[in-house]
Amino acid sequence: MRYQHSREVSAEILRRALQLMSLHKAGYHPVSYAVWYEHAADLNPALTQELGKLLAAGTLLADADICRLHALHIAGRDVQAFELAQSELREVLGESEKQAAHAERSIKRFTVSLDDAIHDAPPDGQIAGALAERVGRVLAEGSQLQSVLGALHQQLARQRQEVEHVMERLERAQNESLRDPLTGLKNLHGLRRAVEARDGDGLAGAAFLAADIDNFKRINDTYGHVIGDKVLAKVAEVLREHLTDEDMAARLGGDEFVMLLPGKSLGAAAALAERIRVTVASTVITRADGMQYPGAVTLSIGAAVGEPADTLESLRHRADEALYDAKESGRNRVALAGDGNGT
Ligand code: GH3
Ligand code: MG
Repeated sequence: MRYQHSREVSAEILRRALQLMSLHKAGYHPVSYAVWYEHAADLNPALTQELGKLLAAGTLLADADICRLHALHIAGRDVQAFELAQSELREVLGESEKQAAHAERSIKRFTVSLDDAIHDAPPDGQIAGALAERVGRVLAEGSQLQSVLGALHQQLARQRQEVEHVMERLERAQNESLRDPLTGLKNLHGLRRAVEARDGDGLAGAAFLAADIDNFKRINDTYGHVIGDKVLAKVAEVLREHLTDEDMAARLGGDEFVMLLPGKSLGAAAALAERIRVTVASTVITRADGMQYPGAVTLSIGAAVGEPADTLESLRHRADEALYDAKESGRNRVALAGDGNGT
């Protein structure tokens, strides 16, 4: 476990973390707590360094900032640790199996050579008889040893199977750490991973959509966070319905969603964004008691298209600027990077 402080020390860290949290805008939720706890306990130098810069610049951290820091410096580190554990485990097992197989082969050679010796012994005389009797005993011991090693080999194979199961579980946990648990979409780290795993020309020719729910705070305040969460899940469902297997969608925290659309032009991406916007706007959110909230949810969406030198950050930045234009010009609309006009 990463957190190994005593109850007393962790209580002290908790006080410091809460004090830091209270100075910022993000909510008092577990993601926020993990970020401030790791910083207050001085457990995460990379996180502390980035936080240090933000604090020095006087930034008041909101939910989106905290989620980004968490995805980058906490969730991301877990993934690396999983991968390291997996490869070390595989190496250890592979080595043990190799050694057992090697020992088995040696013993086989040993028994074969003894067998040869006994059969090559001169057939006459007592010496040859006594020698044969001894060699026979050694041979019996050798074959016993061989069966012990055979069992060891089998046991190692069984252990390998067990470890493979553990690794599958680790892999599942790793996949989960690349996803946003509320919507099942990728998180920022998952999106980065997926982009890195793509072949071809990086982000050139891929379109990017940045979508943000309009007045989401008001939805939370009016209907409560449970409905707010339902809205987030519903938006994710609409995105999934509209995307192909090649496309990628992620929730980057709060009410901010992004989509990477390989091979789509700016026009095609804008048309898709428009269909998503219309579908979300016509969505009816139903509470557990059957109460319905029609038309409560709208999206503003910014669209940009990737160029050869783009990184995920630079492409996202342009889509975010377009999203800002969409918000500024009245919300519930799609805007394109470069022209600032909503469609
Ligand atoms: P705008 O139209 O300018 O986007 O206004 P807004 O009210 O949507 O403002 P903003 O996007 O900054 O609001 C994000 C809100 O999302 C703030 C926070 O309380 C809420 N939020 C963040 N994460 C969650 C969550 O997991 N569930 C719920 N229900 N609300 C969340
Ligand atoms: Mg919003």
